[in-house]
Amino acid sequence: MTAPADILDRLTALRAQDAPTHGGRLLSYVYDSGRADLDELAASAVRAMQPVNGLDPTTFRSVAVIERELVDFAREVFHAGEDVTGTATSGGTESCLLAVKTAREAWRARTGWTPGDPQPRLVAPTTVHAAFRKAAALFDVELDLVPVDPSTGRPAASDLVARLGSDVALVVVSAPSYPFAALDPVPEVAAAALAAGVDLHVDACIGGFALAFWPEDAAGAPAHEWDFAVPGVTSLSADLHKYGYAPKGVSVLLQRGRDRQRHQWFATSAWPGYPVVNPTLLGSKSAAPLAAAWAITQALGVDGFRELTASLARSTAAIVAGVAAIEGLRVVGTPTGPMVAVAEDADAPAERRVDPHLWADAMGGFGFAVQLQPASVQPDGTRLPSTAHLTVTPVTERVLDELLTASGRAADAVRGMPHLDGGAIAAQLLGGLGVPPEALAGGAVPLDSDTAFAILQAAGLVGAPTDAAAGLGPLAPVLALVEALPAPLVERLLIELLAAGLER
Ligand SMILES: *Cc1c(COP(=O)(O)O)cnc(C)c1O
Repeated sequence: MTAPADILDRLTALRAQDAPTHGGRLLSYVYDSGRADLDELAASAVRAMQPVNGLDPTTFRSVAVIERELVDFAREVFHAGEDVTGTATSGGTESCLLAVKTAREAWRARTGWTPGDPQPRLVAPTTVHAAFRKAAALFDVELDLVPVDPSTGRPAASDLVARLGSDVALVVVSAPSYPFAALDPVPEVAAAALAAGVDLHVDACIGGFALAFWPEDAAGAPAHEWDFAVPGVTSLSADLHKYGYAPKGVSVLLQRGRDRQRHQWFATSAWPGYPVVNPTLLGSKSAAPLAAAWAITQALGVDGFRELTASLARSTAAIVAGVAAIEGLRVVGTPTGPMVAVAEDADAPAERRVDPHLWADAMGGFGFAVQLQPASVQPDGTRLPSTAHLTVTPVTERVLDELLTASGRAADAVRGMPHLDGGAIAAQLLGGLGVPPEALAGGAVPLDSDTAFAILQAAGLVGAPTDAAAGLGPLAPVLALVEALPAPLVERLLIELLAAGLER
């Protein structure tokens, strides 16, 4: 037996090794409102709901009431009419999975699909969130990815529209996309989807609760309508654990058409236990994040959200202007909402360019954690650039001057240094280990756990004595490897990296 005080001391010590969740130095994953009162309110709501099972809102009536009120808040914010109904889910991924599952069931019902018939397509820009790749893999839907303009990160409406057809179960557009903060052309695509009788999902997981309150005249304001005000939008996801400032574990999925939404549900009364009737993927589930999100939306109201969002708009505009003024860097496209993607300025002479991954690592030296995003090749062969990603939150404003100063100094520190050669790093790494070259050619050779672990060890990514403060160390070499190696091999190595963190 361990005394509660000792257990909690240990937890405090473990938490001290984490990246800082508050204060604006971690520019991804966390959404610090900067309002301690909201964190306290959320904690109290979590505590009140801790023993409840969200599985059964007929037994726990509180769940039905707070879920309905939370969904109604979202319906109001996203201009949903009486024909729109919704559900709280455990997060953006679950909302996206359910949007695909619903559309697939609706498509199957509509087309009279039977097992053995070809699977439907899901049409989306290459920038669509990875959750839709997961959905396609889980729900037997064929992903049909449409290239975006590499300089803006935006797909052309006509390219998406050209892919519509009777075998399309769902088109997905983002408001905005995670990688480049691009607002996809929602009205044009929705109009065509409506005419073609194809469902359209707006993934507003990250941007929804910020864009809805964005000051109309500020930079980063949406250039057009993107929610249920647009005819043809059949579903929309928005995460409360992002710009709803709730603890992790809550998102909403809204669906147009009550009968259509019923395809989201799963019910069975055919097993010997209690009848199972679920609108979401989980069975027993916590209602705590739901209650926290509900409490925060009640406390903030529309005016409170507007106030926090005004800060997002000011900080984002300052970062966009600040980065644009740094020689050798550029902002990708026109960020819509509170995110910025930073790329190398290819118009600058090579010796004046700033590599975004080296810059991101240098930012770490100034106490700011910026996310590295790999370059990628689209289906048409065009290349999307390596970028660094910043998610802006209300507290960003408190460290804004420091962030801008660090951005300039980090650029000065790495200007003219070339992007790391991932191919050379890979050749050195795999050659030394005797890994078969086939592993490089598409991952045809299945790597076992020990070989994968040995590769990670040779790369210095696991097995070294851990220095919590230093974290993983520079990430630019890791991203260079991710860019150079075939995706199946990278994916296998990343699985081993995360699994090793849990097991070894
Ligand atoms: C975060 C995000 C998701 C997935 O959400 P999780 O809450 O991380 O599961 C989906 N789409 C977009 C655009 C996102 O940014």
